Amino acid sequence: MNRPALIPLAGWLRCPLCGRDLDEDSTAFICSSGHRFELNRRGYLGLLAPDATTRRESTREVEERTARWSTSDSTATVEAAVAMMPPGRPRVLDVGSDLGTTLAAIAHARDDLSALSVGDSPNSLVRAMATARAPAVLCDLIRELPIRDGSAEVLLAIGAPHRPTEWHRVLARGGIVIASASGSAAEALLDDVYPWFEHDQTREVGDSSALRLRRRRRPISW
Ligand SMILES: [Zn+2]
Repeated sequence: MNRPALIPLAGWLRCPLCGRDLDEDSTAFICSSGHRFELNRRGYLGLLAPDATTRRESTREVEERTARWSTSDSTATVEAAVAMMPPGRPRVLDVGSDLGTTLAAIAHARDDLSALSVGDSPNSLVRAMATARAPAVLCDLIRELPIRDGSAEVLLAIGAPHRPTEWHRVLARGGIVIASASGSAAEALLDDVYPWFEHDQTREVGDSSALRLRRRRRPISW
């Protein structure tokens, strides 16, 4: 099996047990407390506390979701999201549920993109890795992500649960979120993220929208 090199993960990760930065040696990722994590045999890195929650999606469920992301409506949403990318080669963190579809479309247009997918379903992550050819981390999405503060410049949240405090934390100053929503869910998304992000752009695609949100330097209080 082709495993992604360890190097592309450098600078992204922190320990899920103690919160300290993770650095890689030749075979594993280690924090200064001595916690050690190795790549799974399927190619992703599991960064999980002992009581972490993950999801066991069946291969069939992943296939069904993949098919949904292959429809023309979904393709149009992905194209709208890609059009919202800033220029250059920003560091992209993908927390979405589109199985790497949008990230693959972005990576196709930009060589040497530094990108990382995170998710809580092993089978989905393996599919996302194959689609987007980016490394992936298995983690508990309900808790703080094992991602360093300010390490991403773009956060892809296509079909992702709303985690505005975490999105704000892992994004660097000036960072953006690219998200999607169906129908009235776009308003709910904007309400949820309001203290942490300002609305920057919406592109409507049929019944769905792609939205771009700009990180506020400081969250505002209600
Ligand atoms: Zn640690």
